Parts: sequence; structure tokens; C-alpha cells
Amino acid sequence: MFRAALIPLRCPTCGANLQVAGQANQFTCEHCETAYLLDKPLDKFSTAEREQLLALTTYTHQLKQWHKAGLYEICVHEILQGQVKQEQVLWANVEYRNRTHETLSCRRGQWVLFDVENYAYDPVSASQYFEPFGRISFGGDRIAAPNMHVRGWIAFAVPMATLPHRLQFLTGYLTTKTVEFLLK
Ligand SMILES: [Zn+2]
Repeated sequence: MFRAALIPLRCPTCGANLQVAGQANQFTCEHCETAYLLDKPLDKFSTAEREQLLALTTYTHQLKQWHKAGLYEICVHEILQGQVKQEQVLWANVEYRNRTHETLSCRRGQWVLFDVENYAYDPVSASQYFEPFGRISFGGDRIAAPNMHVRGWIAFAVPMATLPHRLQFLTGYLTTKTVEFLLK
């Protein structure tokens, strides 16, 4: 009888020890419920690659945890919802850390909010979304040198009736390497 080989793995988000089927190109951590989509089956990764596993897409509810996407490591510390005039606003406090040996470009435009109907919203930059709340805007484009961290707030303004569903982080234009933060 066919028996799937299980491969031991550490969850890239919470570090829990997992056993994942070698032929699988996706798995979910039973501890933190983060799901990972890989670009090939797990048994096609080398042992070294598995120790620093890079998923194509990470789907997570986990705030205050570091997530990898390509060269980037990002953390969403907090997500807040409120209102500015007649708009619903969603704020995310985001941080990047650069553990590579190159300089990374960290851009507000790497973040997109999707609602339950899959409409996409780009971040807003006007000071009315930040200053009255004492939240420091992340800014448009920042540079993180090796070992550097950058942190700030990004904001999305959406119609009041809209139901925000997920916050997506994209490594680059037309990329498939993403982290998706599923909103509760
Ligand atoms: Zn986990």
C-alpha cells in the first residue's frame, strides 16, 4: 500500500514542529493556522531550503509575527479600524526588517486591501488619516539597508458599507510572492 512520506518541518511563522507530506505543495500549521502555498512539492526542496522555507504565498491571521516573502521579512503589529468623515478607515502598523546583504526598497504601494467581493484598495497618504490619530505614516518609499528595520502606519479608506477581508503584501510588481493577512 502506498504510504506518503512525511517530512519534518518547522513552521516558518511560529516555529512549531510539523510533519508534512513530501508530495504536498501546500500545508497548514496546526498551531498558528498559517497556511503556505509552495512553488513545488516539499520533497523537491533541499534540506537547507526546507530549514529556511520560502513560500510562494503565506495566508495568516498572525499579527506580531515575522513572515517571509522573497527577500522581505515583514510584521504587521496591529490592525485598527475607525472612521474619518464619511469613510471607513483601516490602519495597519507594519515593520520590515532586512536580513539580506542588499539594500531593500520598502514601499507603501506593496500593500493592498481587498474586500469580501475582491475589490482592491490602495493605501491613502493624506495627513488627515494620520495626524489627528498621532500615527506616523510609513511614507511612500523607504530604504532598508542590511540589518535595518523600518516601521510606520499605512491606511486604507473604503466606503462605509465595505467589508474588508484581507491585507496583501506584495514583494514587487506582478509578483506571486505574497503574504495575505486574513482579517477577523
Ligand atoms: Zn505555525
